[in-house]
Amino acid sequence: MPNAPQAVISARGARRWQDGHPWIFKSDVVSRPESPAGAVGVTDQAGRFLGTALWSPASEISLRLVSRGEESLDAAWWRARIGAAVQRRAALLDADTNACRLVHGEGDGLPSFVVDRYDRWLVVQLLSAGLEAYRREIVEALVALTGAEGILARNDASVRTREGLSKGVEPLVGIVPETIEVREHGVRYLAAPHDGQKTGAFLDQREARVLVGTVARGVALDVFSYHGSFALHLARRARRVRAVDASTAALARVRENAALNGLTNIEPVEADAFDFLRAEEKLGARYDSIVLDPPAFAKNRASLAGAIRGYRDINLRAMKLLAPGGMLYTASCSYHLSKPDFLEMLRESAAASGRRMILRAVTGQPVDHPEVLTIPETGYLKGALLEAGD
Ligand code: SAH
Repeated sequence: MPNAPQAVISARGARRWQDGHPWIFKSDVVSRPESPAGAVGVTDQAGRFLGTALWSPASEISLRLVSRGEESLDAAWWRARIGAAVQRRAALLDADTNACRLVHGEGDGLPSFVVDRYDRWLVVQLLSAGLEAYRREIVEALVALTGAEGILARNDASVRTREGLSKGVEPLVGIVPETIEVREHGVRYLAAPHDGQKTGAFLDQREARVLVGTVARGVALDVFSYHGSFALHLARRARRVRAVDASTAALARVRENAALNGLTNIEPVEADAFDFLRAEEKLGARYDSIVLDPPAFAKNRASLAGAIRGYRDINLRAMKLLAPGGMLYTASCSYHLSKPDFLEMLRESAAASGRRMILRAVTGQPVDHPEVLTIPETGYLKGALLEAGD
């Protein structure tokens, strides 16, 4: 790219890249490229070439490194990079499931890009201006690599505003149905790509749901159930499952999904989870299996202390509700709550509960949501399977 636009970055920015992180912030750009969003070459202040990056003129994250080489991001480049991500999941999309994340942004060397596959359809998120500039090449590559019948852009995420991009949900290829049936290790549920949470379902908890399904028994509780995907796995072994969520729409989907699986032992409960757990504790209720899968309580660093109090509250109460030998699967998807802090929060909850809680498993992200050690932002989900030892 001899005449390609160039950005010059500070020594601090260059060090960040050398340490394996693809982002360069605005404050580390010494000389900004005079070009619209797209690909640019990047050098340090001594003129040494550092790599090729996606350039977002309006964003606080100005540059996102995609290669240490000098590359032209043409159709073949996108096909190869996206193809590698698709290949990484080849073993996953088989008899066990027809839905998975095909591209997990920085985790797959494709910054600010998300692709989820639901059966024959794809839902994508283009979350930076630099990436958006390659929409045509990206869509072409996706169709060629997956043979998708339809592609929907869920570009309604608020980060797009910070990139100077418009927000909205728009069809890119064909027609994506309002609901798509997902097969997941023996259960079936309907994903809602147009208006469901995330891109229509929580694919990142697939393996945790399978794990929970293997230990479920007796009377079970799925708190923060959304459309009941944990409840469905619990219901295969438990006698009775109560699925608790504050959203009426989510609980309507719990009913639909239970019917889809011919299950009659799931009871939807519309309630605030904090109130519900407190009330159950007062009643002296006991459960053999409990799942806590809350939304991210810590949206930013400033709200972390309050979030930890929230996590402690629900975990303490769930521990108290466990029958002897009962199992609790508890998770956090707050990026701002680190794994060590998550385990410390559970230790404090266990201490306050007076129960002897045995750590049976610590869970992370499945293979289709790769977490890169040098890019902390690619990791957000952690969970623990705990057994009441008394
Ligand atoms: N366990 C689900 C995903 C849960 S997402 C799955 O695996 O598919 C979090 C859910 O928590 C959402 O459905 C949201 O409606 C619900 N929620 C958020 N705050 C709540 C509260 N205070 N009480 C009850 N439900 C809540």
